[in-house]
Amino acid sequence: MKDLVIIGWGAAGFAALIKANQLGFKPTVIGYGPIGGTCVNVGCIPSKRALRIGELYSVASRVLGERTYPDFGEAFKDVKDLVESLRKRKYEDVLASYDAEVIEGKARFVSPRAVKVNGEIIEARKFIIATGSSPKVLEIKGLREAGFWTNSEALYPDREVDSLAIIGGRAQALEFAQMYRRLGVDVAVLQRSKVLLPDWEPEVSLLAERVLSDEGVYVFTNVEVREVRRSANSKVIVTNRGEIEAEEILLATGRKPNVDLNLEAAGVELGPNGGVKVNDDLSTTNPNVYAAGDVLGEPMLESLAGYEGSIAAENALTGSRKSTNRRLAPQAIFTQPNIARVGSAEGYEVGSLESRVIWLSELPKASILGDERGLVKMTVERETKRIVSVQMVAENAGDVIAEAALAIRHGLTIDDIIEVVHPFPTVAESLRLAALSFYVDVSRLSCCV
Ligand SMILES: Cc1cc2nc3c(=O)[nH]c(=O)nc-3n(C[C@H](O)[C@H](O)[C@H](O)COP(=O)(O)OP(=O)(O)OC[C@H]3O[C@@H](n4cnc5c(N)ncnc54)[C@H](O)[C@@H]3O)c2cc1C
Repeated sequence: MKDLVIIGWGAAGFAALIKANQLGFKPTVIGYGPIGGTCVNVGCIPSKRALRIGELYSVASRVLGERTYPDFGEAFKDVKDLVESLRKRKYEDVLASYDAEVIEGKARFVSPRAVKVNGEIIEARKFIIATGSSPKVLEIKGLREAGFWTNSEALYPDREVDSLAIIGGRAQALEFAQMYRRLGVDVAVLQRSKVLLPDWEPEVSLLAERVLSDEGVYVFTNVEVREVRRSANSKVIVTNRGEIEAEEILLATGRKPNVDLNLEAAGVELGPNGGVKVNDDLSTTNPNVYAAGDVLGEPMLESLAGYEGSIAAENALTGSRKSTNRRLAPQAIFTQPNIARVGSAEGYEVGSLESRVIWLSELPKASILGDERGLVKMTVERETKRIVSVQMVAENAGDVIAEAALAIRHGLTIDDIIEVVHPFPTVAESLRLAALSFYVDVSRLSCCV
């Protein structure tokens, strides 16, 4: 009987393995597909690299006053090279440096204490399910026959395309829209809701649409996709607002947890979001089975998956009951400017909160960077002035939001932020300006008050 079986070798599985070793246990890790899972192979790393290439050309175009685009094939070759290098350094070499039994194959539960992989039954005292997620494929008439891309194909395209229609209007849709537009591709975004990023603050949603439109992305909202047809060299999407023709379709309509593991045999139940149901300590309905990462459902984030993998291993192996707070995980969309948020007003009584918005035109750093599009919206408890949530659109907001995450996690107030001297000129200073805006009109402040 093994001490611990970890199913999945992505962020959550690796973090669990590392924690298990630190605690003196040798786990068995079962995985299939490219080592490292989604993030390094078909997620964060390749998408952020492709965005970075476009970003450099976009800034250069602005300076030169002439629109230039990277070579499509060269850009994706660079992406592939980086993925191969990071997969080796951050996963293959790391795995080799730890003490684990590694089995390549697809695991399925056969009982509450055993899985089967490659025909072999493996029993263990504890299990961690870290099987990640896969693209959610909508049932649209004709879509499968016409063919489509998901994130995997869009990050390793088999040919250069002239036009791309993206179905979806959330984080992935936005990143791919800017990425492909900046590679010189005509891009249309088809979003079912009234706005992009419908579960973000309205100011952020509207600005996100402007950022894409400014670059020439066609954004269509309130779109109901009814059918997809193939024409000679392209695909036609039939919607309630007319037909859209594009060389390729990218489906960016979310992801579903990978729960095809015969979980019934283990007595592990699913929650209403389709992910594995867990308690605060990440144990499932089977007390010997824990789960971490995307397999729990939204929010699906590399950072959260790693954090949870480590906590799941510690709780499973030591009997401790550390908990995670998924609601406090900061999220970032790596368009330029970035779009980021942390915290939520959920659970607060109406009238107990107040918010302020500051526009980046008030921030000297934004003027220096030559892009004043952006904002910070800060929400606090009216009585205590404790920070409850921050959403922002700004260059490097993905980095800056970490300060807000720290503040929320430790119950800090706007005065705590104001009392910290922030470096000037930086985007981080926008958080201090947002805090100050609860007291004064920031448009009437000189630099660094
Ligand atoms: C395009 C894109 C961009 C993204 N960008 C970001 C970003 O910028 N920042 C961020 O924080 N997050 C980002 N994410 C999300 C991030 O990639 C995921 O949240 C993270 O990779 C989840 O890690 P995981 O360990 O839960 O799952 P995964 O990394 O998916 O790993 C799960 C592993 O389990 C294996 N597996 C599945 N079933 C079984 C089985 N039955 N037996 C054995 N093995 C199995 C899979 O093959 C896989 O290797 C992005 C995702 C996408 C798709």
